[in-house]
Amino acid sequence: MGPRGYRYKTSHSQPGPGDGGATGSWRVQRPVIDLARCTPAKRGKEACFACWLYCPDVVVSRTIPPQIDYEYCKGCGICAEECPTGAIEMVDESAAHEHED
Ligand code: SF4
Ligand code: SF4
Repeated sequence: MGPRGYRYKTSHSQPGPGDGGATGSWRVQRPVIDLARCTPAKRGKEACFACWLYCPDVVVSRTIPPQIDYEYCKGCGICAEECPTGAIEMVDESAAHEHED
């Protein structure tokens, strides 16, 4: 057997927000959460958070309501696919910018 405590000293990595770098301007679609359909937002308590769990870039917060960090979101759409209530819609970036103006 290795030195005492060996199994606790092996290296490992964990993903963190922004590990893939800032998205820049190339994202085609962005996820938008409809809070009227989002379970934790509706109930006002911790529930679901499938979007937080499945986002590969770790850019969805586990908060009420969930928040998406668009600086790092790649627009992959996994969160929208996994949301059990259909609360997340993928919106074209051009339409999203028009909405902001
Ligand atoms: S997966 Fe959908 S319902 Fe669940 S927390 Fe995220 S947006 Fe809300
Ligand atoms: S679109 Fe992809 S990167 Fe952006 S929040 Fe959803 S799962 Fe994460």
